[in-house]
Amino acid sequence: MSLNESPTPSVRHANRVRMLQALLRYPARSRADLGRSLGLSRATVTALLNELELAGMVEQQRHDSDDERPPAIGRPPLQVSLAPSAAYAVGLDFGHRHVRSAVCDLGGRILADQWASNNTDMDPGSTFDLAQRLTTAALADAGVLRSHVVGAGVGLAAPVDAATGFVHAEGILPGWDGVNPAAELEKRLGMEVQIVNDANAGAMGEHLFGVGRGVSDMVYLQLSGGVGLGLILNGESYGGVTGVAGEVGHTPIVEDGLICRCGNRGCLETVATSHAVSDLLGRSRGETMTFAHVLQLLQDGDRGARRAVVDTGAAVGRSIAGIVNLINPELVIIGGELAAAGETLLEPIREAVDRRSVPAAAKAARVVRGTLGEHAEVLGAAAVQLTRAPEALAGRLANIA
Ligand SMILES: [Zn+2]
Repeated sequence: MSLNESPTPSVRHANRVRMLQALLRYPARSRADLGRSLGLSRATVTALLNELELAGMVEQQRHDSDDERPPAIGRPPLQVSLAPSAAYAVGLDFGHRHVRSAVCDLGGRILADQWASNNTDMDPGSTFDLAQRLTTAALADAGVLRSHVVGAGVGLAAPVDAATGFVHAEGILPGWDGVNPAAELEKRLGMEVQIVNDANAGAMGEHLFGVGRGVSDMVYLQLSGGVGLGLILNGESYGGVTGVAGEVGHTPIVEDGLICRCGNRGCLETVATSHAVSDLLGRSRGETMTFAHVLQLLQDGDRGARRAVVDTGAAVGRSIAGIVNLINPELVIIGGELAAAGETLLEPIREAVDRRSVPAAAKAARVVRGTLGEHAEVLGAAAVQLTRAPEALAGRLANIA
């Protein structure tokens, strides 16, 4: 069935947008599959794709070694994807202790990546200047002109109010109160900037380009210098009414635990960050440790290192169990630095979820490690802008027509 065989300009525009959006979320699809999911006739799909291919926005290729399809007689069908170079975005990740800027294409590939350590929490001004230098260098490395960039997305280690653009900084980013990071960065970068919480960015990265592709309900838990949680509900990023949804780092999880930087006691952040784990082990060994050192000891079979990681996993699992009951997700993705501990961390999380969540919810929720690693946040920040690319590209064609 077809929506319209000789479409009006507005229907044609809407069809282009829907086609480009479908290809952004699910690349490498056949024409028949696209026609079915968009409710468009074969002729309409062919005409649309030929026009988009001519404009350099999509690619149609035959893959002879495609294992996922059942063997069929004749040639395999054409696979349609977005042309990666049709649009670019800059992804910025402001961690507590670093800034990263990456130039990404429409296929989720990082073309250039610049990183520097930084005291982000106390000094927003020099953080913005550093972001500007890193972005200029990354664009030059990638050979991408600013005019070909849809915009920049920024993942920030604090809740961000989507309506005002201001950061909820109290106790989390002490120097950032009253700062509007999007406005400051737009001035410096000369492109549209959107700020998101870094865990939400990680969730979007894994959702669009990683292990969460095609999953409509998922939880992304980011365990690095802080603890963050990003939600994808019904296929969309969910931030809550003022952008604070998913702040699990400061929920109490250890009774009589350590005092947290937020002023409470025993928050998840006091046990489930990279420095919490390395400090814990360092105390028992009487030495200053990094998390890389903990990972090395874990690999060498050190009992203390294993104990520290397993106990952290159990604490994470206790806090995730309630979220699994609340959201009933298909996927719980563990990301951030701590995810490098692999199954030693994941197993106790699964055990705690199995023991503490409603059985039907626990059974549905697969706990897996993210596949984008340290790039989840920058890719997700870029994804915030790349999701606008279908409208922008279709708009370009409407102007020509
Ligand atoms: Zn806290």
